Amino acid sequence: MDIFQKCYNFTAAREVMALGLYPYFHPLSSGQDTGVVIDGRPMIMIGSNNYLGLTSHPEVKEAAIKAVEKYGSGCSGSRFLNGTLDLHVELEEKLAKFVRKEAALVFSTGFQTNLGTISALVSKHDYVVTDRADHASIFDACRLSFGDTMKYKHNDMEDLERVLSGLEEEAGKLIVIDGVFSMEGDLANLPEIVKVGQKYGARIMVDDAHGIGVMGTNGRGTAEHFGVEDKIDLIMGTFSKSFASLGGFIAGEEAIIHYLKHISRELIFSASMPPSAVAATLKALEIIQREPQRRKRLWEITDRMHQEYRNLGFDIGTTETPVIPIIVGEDLQTFKFWRELFDQGIFANPIISPAVPKGKALIRTSYTATHTDQQMDKVLKVFACVGKKLRVLAS
Ligand code: PMP
Repeated sequence: MDIFQKCYNFTAAREVMALGLYPYFHPLSSGQDTGVVIDGRPMIMIGSNNYLGLTSHPEVKEAAIKAVEKYGSGCSGSRFLNGTLDLHVELEEKLAKFVRKEAALVFSTGFQTNLGTISALVSKHDYVVTDRADHASIFDACRLSFGDTMKYKHNDMEDLERVLSGLEEEAGKLIVIDGVFSMEGDLANLPEIVKVGQKYGARIMVDDAHGIGVMGTNGRGTAEHFGVEDKIDLIMGTFSKSFASLGGFIAGEEAIIHYLKHISRELIFSASMPPSAVAATLKALEIIQREPQRRKRLWEITDRMHQEYRNLGFDIGTTETPVIPIIVGEDLQTFKFWRELFDQGIFANPIISPAVPKGKALIRTSYTATHTDQQMDKVLKVFACVGKKLRVLAS
């Protein structure tokens, strides 16, 4: 059998293309902002993770430009060898302080952070315990590790206890959860997870890609929101969302970070974050702490959109965050919904299985602190119209 045969047989995407409903890889010819340009047309962006609107902040852009001028365009090697800049160390120290942990370590992407952390920590005879709705990078990390992966039903604490109680008492256990679930915007029940985890001697890691900068009075994330920061052993975050850059970090006890620095293959055998990305992240971290009004505005928009979508009659699931799913159901209907939005100048993301359960396809919308009320008025008007036209809403 030709190894390429599966590619020649792969027709699903071409079938959607032939219907004019293909929603992926559309190039933007503008910056990533609340308004973007696609195919020469201005559109309102409600499909990005730029929660605080910092991708276009003049100070963030300036910091990246200055870093290129001083350090050049890339690091040409791994953190372990030649690729550590004073800027990486400064970022790690400031991040650790921000999330109230002893130490932090930055990786070149958020995805790599999960791969490099989980695969290094979970060895043979250990267990990693995950929520079924965790991010793909967590499941790929589990596949890379030599330990066993146990999944529990989404946010079901009885099922978590069932899984933990079935494991050998002496085995090492790491519970890994998204703080904010990335597709449906609901929160991990951290207080209960801490309680059950402690009962069975498990360590806890929170992937707070969508929580840092957004959740908690000071933007320190989902653990701050629930008041359990000191009970979470490892906090992971990405720089591709509120931080308006690219990269990721893991923060925790110094001994754990020291171990990861010397054992994590994704850190040691991959080039480090480029200077522009580190400098942009450092500036974003400063702004996240200096400008709480951004978070306040994001939550004003979020509260309004939750309320208005519900009033219109949309099913938005159990979201508690600026990630708001509009649950449509079938894949084809969801692609049609996406196309109608796109034609009317709204960019949002259709999400189908395996990112969400089959039959629960949705339009993922997400909001930015710099969205205007006028933009939100237009979004709601278009959603109401498309919802009725496609009979997602009763007319
Ligand atoms: N974890 C979660 C929960 C995510 O949503 C993402 C990105 N969508 C990642 C990890 C990976 O982060 P990055 O895109 O920065 O590599």
